[in-house]
Formats: sequence, C-alpha cells, structure tokens
Amino acid sequence: CGIIGYVGDDATAADDAVLDVLMTGLSGLEYRGYDSAGVAVANSSLALYKREGDISALESALPDGSVDGVAGIGHTRWSTHGPPSDANAHPHTDPAERVAVVHNGIIENYQSLRDELEADGHAFESDTDTEVVPHLIADALESGVDRETAFRRAIDRIDGSYAIAAVFAGSEVVYAARNESPLVLGVGDDGHYLASDVPAFIEYTDRVIYLDDGEFARIGPDDLVVTDENGTVVDAAVETIEWDA
Ligand code: GLU
Repeated sequence: CGIIGYVGDDATAADDAVLDVLMTGLSGLEYRGYDSAGVAVANSSLALYKREGDISALESALPDGSVDGVAGIGHTRWSTHGPPSDANAHPHTDPAERVAVVHNGIIENYQSLRDELEADGHAFESDTDTEVVPHLIADALESGVDRETAFRRAIDRIDGSYAIAAVFAGSEVVYAARNESPLVLGVGDDGHYLASDVPAFIEYTDRVIYLDDGEFARIGPDDLVVTDENGTVVDAAVETIEWDA
C-alpha cells in the first residue's frame, strides 16, 4: 500500500545509493500497512527483488554487493487480487523484463484485459490485477512507440484507482500516473522522488508537488515534468512543507 520512486544524479550512482533510498522510502511507508515488499532498479537490464513478508525479508533478499543504475521503484503491497506471495509481490514485469511496474489501488477492468492478452499469447506469472500493466506496456513497445508513449497507452486502457510507477531497462527515468490514489513528487538536491506519501522521502527533501487525478509525471536525474491526460505540460507548483519527522 505504498510506492517509492527515485532517480539520483551521478553522485548517487557513484555512491551506489539508489537501493538505500528505496529501502528508506519503504520503511517510511510501513505505517500504511502491507503484506509484501519489493524493489526494482534499472540498469542495462532490471535488478528485481521482492518478497512476501516484512521489509526485513526483502532486505535479506538484496545482494551484498552493489547494484548499478540511478533509477528505481519500490512497493509495499496490501493484497486485493491474489494472496500474499513472492510471485504476487510487486514490482511486476513483462516476460522479457523490459519494464517493471508498481501499483497501489485496483484495476477494475483487469480481467477483460488479461483475457485479451492471454488470447494473444501472453503468459502471466501472478494473480494480481497489476500484472496486465507491464504486459500492455510491452505490447505498445512492440508496436514501435517510445517508452513514454507506451506507458501512457497502457494507462489509457485501464479503469479504476491507481498510483502507478514504472522503470525501463536501459533508462534513467521513472514514469508515473495517478487516479484516485495518492502520489506526491519530491524535488531534491541529489535527484527526484515520488511516493504515496511524504514520509517516504522527507529525510531527503521537503519540496514537493502533489499530483492530481489524471496527471502523469516523468522524473529524471536532472528534471521533472508533470503532464495532463493529453500530454500537455502542467505548470505544477513546488510547495515547501513542514513535517515533523
Ligand atoms: N491491487 C494490487 C494487488 O493486489 C495492489 C494492491 C496495493 O494497493 O498494494 O496487488
């Protein structure tokens, strides 16, 4: 029931800090409740770790050594579709692992989308409503569009409540969308953040942008762009918040 996303700058990459920021973010969201947790970091492929259970279970599944990459997403899951399990934990990917997706909320039309994708030959690995999203993105990529267009096309096809974030192998960007589930962006000195709620990144920055329903965000190492459902750039206000951490 929580999402964290982070894209660090070169210094972050040199410090190998992306996993640390993601895990700190998940700890900051524990108060929302959850039954499983996971993270994905994008480099030339996707480094993906997820576990049923609490954050310490995920922690012990992480590698001792470093993980390359500056862009990552993390998730704490409160199951709605499919029991708590390693396979149902987020992030979810397409079979070729080109994209990893985390989601809070419920995709109301997932069954008809899944039926359509399965009829097209897509094999699913989980019982979640969420898993249709990476498959839809992969299909759009297959049709030749760029990553951002593929993400938007997938979001256009789903109904329901969602805060969704995605990272792609070979990319330094996190894409996000929201409808009836909270999502807030953080503007830091060492990169950009997104989360379900401010405690996920308050130790790094207090400058935030609250997304509205129907909005999309793209966060990169040096910039952050909010767009509306038509793709028009929104002049989003950065607020400095007061927070007793
Ligand atoms: N509906 C999704 C699932 O069951 C997301 C649940 C959540 O908000 O954590 O996996």
